[in-house]
Amino acid sequence: MSGLDLLTERDLSTAPTEPAKRWKNWWRGISYNRCERCSHQGRPGQIYTDCCDPAWPSRDVAESNAERQIAYQIESSGRALEEFIGAYPEGERP
Ligand SMILES: [Zn+2]
Repeated sequence: MSGLDLLTERDLSTAPTEPAKRWKNWWRGISYNRCERCSHQGRPGQIYTDCCDPAWPSRDVAESNAERQIAYQIESSGRALEEFIGAYPEGERP
């Protein structure tokens, strides 16, 4: 085994897994709902991601915003209009 091989093995074993930098929230419609900003309509059972919200910088931030979104729906409509499926790295989906 050469020195170069050893260096490569060490690099591989210590390289941190790069965390995703952009996260999107994904939803399943519970009832018909309409985005107040772009009028995108969600249907019951439909799976979709946020249409207007940006990608969030971490899973924690994405999940906090999802909690706020559900709280807003309950406050304004008396119930959640969407079910939060989860936050996924941008480009991935449930
Ligand atoms: Zn929208």
